Amino acid sequence: MVDKVIPLADHRYASAVPIIPADITAPTGSLHDQFSRPLRDLRISVTDRCNFRCSYCMPKAVFDPHYDFLPHGSLLGFEEITRLARLFIAHGVHKIRLTGGEPLLRKDLDRLVSMLSKLRTPDGHAIDMTLTTNASLLAKKAQALRDAGLQRITVSLDALDDAVFRRMNDVDFPVADVLKGIEAAERAGLGPIKVNMVVKRGSNDHEILPMAARFRHTKVILRFIEYVDVGASNGWRMDEVLPSAEIIERINVAYPLEPLEANDRGETAQRFRYRDGGGEIGVISSVTQAFCRDCNRARLSTEGKLFLCLFATRGHDLRALLRGGANDLEIASAIGLVWQQREDRYSELRSTGSASAQALDSGEPKRIEMHYIGG
Ligand code: SAM
Ligand code: SF4
Ligand code: SF4
Repeated sequence: MVDKVIPLADHRYASAVPIIPADITAPTGSLHDQFSRPLRDLRISVTDRCNFRCSYCMPKAVFDPHYDFLPHGSLLGFEEITRLARLFIAHGVHKIRLTGGEPLLRKDLDRLVSMLSKLRTPDGHAIDMTLTTNASLLAKKAQALRDAGLQRITVSLDALDDAVFRRMNDVDFPVADVLKGIEAAERAGLGPIKVNMVVKRGSNDHEILPMAARFRHTKVILRFIEYVDVGASNGWRMDEVLPSAEIIERINVAYPLEPLEANDRGETAQRFRYRDGGGEIGVISSVTQAFCRDCNRARLSTEGKLFLCLFATRGHDLRALLRGGANDLEIASAIGLVWQQREDRYSELRSTGSASAQALDSGEPKRIEMHYIGG
């Protein structure tokens, strides 16, 4: 038998070490890219591993027992993550989302939460910190996360029917344990809890109404997410996308809805409320409605590469600066330059059928995967 050749994991995606500009300037808390979009939201992936194999994210056929996940030494340590987070905050970030892979698989995550929760914006405010999880380990960890300073949590849940849910996660994980995780998060005071359901036509779209019914008149905010063509592994097809407009139509028939104003510029979800006072829901229409114009999100991969878009093909290797001995001002200036040069707006380009988006759709260079960079 021939051993599988394992490529060097760190080189799976193209990256370059960011340039430290000649004129080093201290961050001002206000940084804008080529389309005047500020930097506000940082998503930090703390592991590329996961105990689920959702077909739209880590299909078993690709993420098999031989898959070369990142070796431990290439992961950013908690001190490194916190140091970078502090620099991003100095540039204007006021929201941090911990993600993955499955973030609760990262050992001692509550220690990182505690370190990040002590950071302050330039005007002295605490940052808005949240975490996205499949909730498989949440019942055990909710209280420790809350005690460490986590405020909110987003749980991914694609069905209430146990058989459908087990099929969606593809590791036979029971839905009852996710629901226990949500209850534990509620008890610990991690609120408001958001529940994200990725809708795949023909797989779980018949679960839309049961999910709506389950979370109406609760404090949980349910959000429906269009199945996105991120990465290169999930075999995405447009006919498996159920447009948000259709999701809203279906719910509206059973439980009449009315639109709500956005909370924030750059908010990804369109919000609605039940006319009978049953609470709020949201839809995230990444495929049918581009929201690049207000996209203020940066993503930091598990091994310290900065990505400016979910559909990016190239990262900016901040770990090389950290481990190469650059000082804080130098790293902050390098991050500043990268963001100022940002032109990414893949969804917008795709919706106008632009040639550059089509070139990206061809699969070369390779696009980043969701489990690697987080949602
Ligand atoms: N493992 C955690 C979880 O599932 O919540 C965090 C990481 S996961 C990559 C973050 C979010 O991305 C989840 O809500 C997941 O449903 C979503 N996601 C993954 N692949 C997706 C796809 N192809 N289209 C839409 N959403 C996707
Ligand atoms: Fe794991 Fe989350 Fe991806 Fe599902 S969506 S495979 S839970 S990282
Ligand atoms: Fe932001 Fe890229 Fe998504 Fe557009 S496609 S909203 S730029 S992450």
